[in-house]
Order: sequence, then structure tokens, then C-alpha cells
Amino acid sequence: MREGQRRILVVEDELTIAESIAARLRAEGFEVELAHDGPSAVAKAEQVVPDLIVLDLMLPGFDGLEVCRQVQAHRPVPVLMLTARDDETDLLVGLAVGADDYMTKPFSIRELAARVHALLRRVQRNQRPGSTIVLGDLEIDPVERRVQRAGEPAHLTPTEFELLAHLAGRPRAVVPRERLLSEIWGWTDQAATRTVDSHIKALRRKLGADLIRTVHGVGYALEVPK
Ligand code: CA
Repeated sequence: MREGQRRILVVEDELTIAESIAARLRAEGFEVELAHDGPSAVAKAEQVVPDLIVLDLMLPGFDGLEVCRQVQAHRPVPVLMLTARDDETDLLVGLAVGADDYMTKPFSIRELAARVHALLRRVQRNQRPGSTIVLGDLEIDPVERRVQRAGEPAHLTPTEFELLAHLAGRPRAVVPRERLLSEIWGWTDQAATRTVDSHIKALRRKLGADLIRTVHGVGYALEVPK
């Protein structure tokens, strides 16, 4: 499948890795921009408005977490984070830092390209236009992909937005974690349900702990706020 003019920003300070990722993505029809440190990644993201960012965690200047925070504050953009070790990935998933997917080095470039395609398809599939959902003091605008609570805007990542919109589609209904995983991430690997937990944690942090109820052993439900 050719991706047309979709633009990927690759942020990686190891030049050989950056170049091989760029070459592979260009061969698959993407337009690729490169940045090699934290500050230039943020500047480049504002300048080129990428459809997706492949983001190394350890960077000169400031790290991938800070890049993620600064970029996501302007505009939700899918992020595929590259880490050096599995335990770093575990830590980041636990922290709910706002990346949509993770890969641990060394990885195959082919696998990376497959993950990029999957993430873009997922974001596109879940972009459903519709009218604004209002639940108490929570407002979700699916066209602009904006969320606010009590008049305060929240900056959600694309995945966080999809998760919230999915739960808000049937308020108070308990949605099993496995179903969220398959419908939002397109995954069937049930061992990955902690990914759902991580994104729920991020939503609670950004929108208030009272918004989403945990039903132990089952899943999550969106409470209608006052
Ligand atoms: Ca690095």
C-alpha cells in the first residue's frame, strides 16, 4: 500500500540508524524528515507537521520524553518510541508518557516499517467525524479532536483520544480491557492489556481520577461527571 504524501519525522542521534530508517520509509513511499537532538526535533515537528514521529528516547539536548511532551502540547501526533532496553520500555509504559507504541533496540527495520503502517492505519480508522459529545463537564469534539473538562482543555495523544472517545460512546458501560485492545490498538495479544492500563492512567492524570472507573478483573467504564 502506498502512503502518498504522508510525512514521518525520524528523531535519532545515531546517524546510521537514522539513515537506515529513513531509507526504508522513503522506499515505502513516505516523505521523511530527520532530526538528531531534542530541541531540533521539537522545532522540526512544528515546521513540517508530521503525520507520525519515530522518536529515540536517549537524545542530546533533551530526551524523547520531553520531545513527546512539547510536541503533544501543540497537536496530537502518533509517536513510535525507540528504547535501548526492554526495562526502559516497561518503565515508560508504566509512566504513561504518551507514546503510542514502543520498539526496543536492536529491531528490524522491516518490523519498524510494519509498526509505522499499523499505527497510521489505526489513527486513520479511528478518525470518525461526528458531533460533540457532552457528558457533564466533559466535552469531546471528534472533528477537531479536542477535549475539555470544566472548560479546561486537555492535551491528549491520538491513542488517549481514541480510548476516551470509545468509552464515551457508551457511558457507564463496562468495556473489557481485551476489547479495548482489539478495537483501538487492533491487537489480539492479551498480554498487552497493560498498555490499556497505561493509557487509562494517562487519561486520569489529564482529566481527573474520578472520570474512569476500574472494574477489577474486567475493564473500565466512563463515569458521567457532574
Ligand atoms: Ca540515542
